Amino acid sequence: MICPSCAQRFTLTLARYMGVAFARFACPHCGARLRLRQTWYYWVWLLFFGIIAIVVPAQALVWAGLPGLVVAIVSLGVLGVALDWRLEARTATPVLIGPVSDRE
Ligand SMILES: [Zn+2]
Repeated sequence: MICPSCAQRFTLTLARYMGVAFARFACPHCGARLRLRQTWYYWVWLLFFGIIAIVVPAQALVWAGLPGLVVAIVSLGVLGVALDWRLEARTATPVLIGPVSDRE
């Protein structure tokens, strides 16, 4: 993705992706505070994954009891974060929300 402040290209690393969730996301070059603007198909994916995240653990509980539920939630959590990270890295646009911070 390209920083709207300094126009330099940077990648959405896992650490930066985690920063987005906690609103601590900054350009590695100029330190500008950024947020991500999502595309419409991001919200479709989120809705789709939300349905899966309800249906699959419920089915796992029926088939395999509590251990099945735990395994389903943990694997869906890891899968969801990984897919979400890759999708945002490819499709989201960084938007400037604040001035250059002294951090980073
Ligand atoms: Zn920048």
